[in-house]
Amino acid sequence: MPEKFLNHIAGRWVPARSGRTFCNHNPATGEALGDYPASGPEDVDAAVLAARAAYPAWRLTPAPKRAEIVFRAGEIIRDRKEDLARAMTREMGKILVETRGDVQEGIDMAYLAAGEGRRMYGVTTPSEMPNKWAMSIRAPIGVVGVITPWNFPFAIPSWKLMPALVAGNTAVFKPAGDTPEMAWHFTKIFEEAGLPPGVLNLVFGSGSQVGDPMVEHPGIQVISFTGSTDVGLRIAGKGGASGKRISLEMGGKNAIIVMDDADLGLATDAIAWSAFGTTGQRCTACSRVLVHERVHDALAERVAAKAKALRLGDGLDPATEVGPLINKSQVETVSRYVEIGKGEGALMAGGAVATEPALSRGHFFRPTVFSGVPGDARIAVEEIFGPVLAMVKVKSLEDAVAINNASRYGLSSSIFTADVHRAFQAMRDLDTGIVYVNHGTTGAETHLPFGGTRGTGNGHREAGHTMLDPFTEWKSIYVDFSGRVQRAQIDNN
Ligand code: NDP
Repeated sequence: MPEKFLNHIAGRWVPARSGRTFCNHNPATGEALGDYPASGPEDVDAAVLAARAAYPAWRLTPAPKRAEIVFRAGEIIRDRKEDLARAMTREMGKILVETRGDVQEGIDMAYLAAGEGRRMYGVTTPSEMPNKWAMSIRAPIGVVGVITPWNFPFAIPSWKLMPALVAGNTAVFKPAGDTPEMAWHFTKIFEEAGLPPGVLNLVFGSGSQVGDPMVEHPGIQVISFTGSTDVGLRIAGKGGASGKRISLEMGGKNAIIVMDDADLGLATDAIAWSAFGTTGQRCTACSRVLVHERVHDALAERVAAKAKALRLGDGLDPATEVGPLINKSQVETVSRYVEIGKGEGALMAGGAVATEPALSRGHFFRPTVFSGVPGDARIAVEEIFGPVLAMVKVKSLEDAVAINNASRYGLSSSIFTADVHRAFQAMRDLDTGIVYVNHGTTGAETHLPFGGTRGTGNGHREAGHTMLDPFTEWKSIYVDFSGRVQRAQIDNN
């Protein structure tokens, strides 16, 4: 029997008002895991009401005290790291080393965000008038709505909710329908860490029944969203129309550039890890390699051999290197793109659903490599979000940069080269939020800003020294102790 889980509203664990539920499944085995409230707009109303009621007291709780709760949550996450990682592999499919990494991001983010409680620096600056001081401070905004995807079900809520709470906001959290359990653990841990009732409210349910009403709700001031570009842009339109602040982290089509002087062994390992880790379902996954024509064929052979040797299976098995895709619909999308790819390049590896009996109950697809793909082919420009890699021949670094920058997306990019001049040229010219040198496209660290350009983002950055920006307003304060009316821009000329 699947376990039963509830929403968390105003500090109480409650079912959806409608009484309806939905189930999540293990993508490696098809097993039903848990029953969750299929909430609706009335549950969103209750959660927003609770968040608004909790806001005045939380806003006035000293930031270092708010941060201590986040720090305590980090300690609990650290103590439960292994159990959380195993639960995540069961729910989401990626292999244990990767789910441990996902939980570790939550720990790292908790410690980093907690430090902000004792910093949250403002700026003091001289006034142009005598006997007058001027300063700007960060202020919380109000109720933050957080909508997250399934691929980093612990790390992404951490990047958003931890800074939002340290800054003094309260929150309503809607996780992806495929990974509700990790959101339940996240919220439970904050309850145990001592977060007051109503500060963090969790509402399970679909994008249309919970996400949409959050975006339209007048009681929410900020929406922080990570997910696909199409959904993100719809949210920006709807939420922006009512004046909400909308912070978007969206799709990617990340390229690794390999020059003719690169270490091909190193590049092959990095490409395999970036393209097939998390079964290609990372926002920073490498899904195209822009490779110098002189080394294209040799590199394609190496990458294809590596892809064929990867071992598919249940992520809980330590021997597994590639887990399942998240669900059936993702298998269909990947299959569709592979059919398109067969007309666009040479199929070097994979290209099919895995049919071994041990894998037949899960959503397994073989790591797939196409070579000789034109830079503007569909599999080289559209986000597939699966283990499909397109290798594109380029004539020069300039050629590679032009193809990279013509993409709809701008999250991550990388270059392999031994030439320091080319490396710096690439760092300067690649139009992505993250650039790696002699390293794959994945592996962001929490203390650097994270986000992308063009269709990947709308100018915000999460984590790093920018973590508070989406969740705070700047307030400028002038204190005049001259005892007379001083007129700025007038009396000092
Ligand atoms: P989706 O855009 O389908 O969903 C993301 C979240 O939005 C889910 O919680 C979803 O709910 C919700 N949602 C769906 N429709 C609406 C709506 N109309 N209004 C409000 N909320 C809605 O993305 P996926 O979950 O499939 O995630 C994969 C995508 O996320 C990829 O494009 C990937 O590149 C991107 N991503 C980007 C990252 C980045 O930092 N740039 C990081 C990780 C992923 P439900 O699950 O119920 O449908």
